[in-house]
Amino acid sequence: MLEKDIQEVLFSEEQLKTRVNEIAQEIDRDYAGKEIMLISVLRGSFIFMADLCRAIDLDCTLDFMSVSSYGKGTSSSGQVQITKDLSEDISGRHIIVVEDILDSGNTLSYLLKILEHRHPASIRLCTLLDKPDRRVKPVEVHYSGFTIPDAFVVGYGLDYAEKYRNLPYIGILKPEVYGG
Ligand code: 5GP
Ligand code: MG
Ligand code: MG
Repeated sequence: MLEKDIQEVLFSEEQLKTRVNEIAQEIDRDYAGKEIMLISVLRGSFIFMADLCRAIDLDCTLDFMSVSSYGKGTSSSGQVQITKDLSEDISGRHIIVVEDILDSGNTLSYLLKILEHRHPASIRLCTLLDKPDRRVKPVEVHYSGFTIPDAFVVGYGLDYAEKYRNLPYIGILKPEVYGG
């Protein structure tokens, strides 16, 4: 039923699982012997976060924050607002920010700046998807699942108008769904 709105499947459940496990292994290697804190940027990254943290074999704590970026549209404004802040203090900790997708970079360049001011021991960005063609603000990415072309994608946590998050794969939404 949801599938009728999908133009093309970009990454199947199987492909997502394989890539998420590879990223977890990279993180395990890079932070061997350390404790890390994963910060999920809600809501788009909640499924990626859930799969990634279960594939990581390190001492690990989790926290969540929420920022507003798109509303119901499909393009970002430079205006970013924290709508739910972290519950934990991040000072002196090794932070990995877990995001669903890096697009213009507006959201993450703002967010990373704010988090850096709280004096973590280190901070890295892990994004499942990256759309480099759309970048307006430069953002340093340490872990990236897949690079994708400039298309609006949904599924595996990513929404359009809060729907499609529950699709188990990632697909390109048919432009007629959002009037594109
Ligand atoms: P940015 O600030 O980098 O332009 O956008 C960041 C946020 O916009 C992402 O975390 C995501 O929530 C949303 N976004 C950007 N591109 C897409 C897309 O193709 N599909 C969906 N569902 N959300 C997107
Ligand atoms: Mg996001
Ligand atoms: Mg969204």
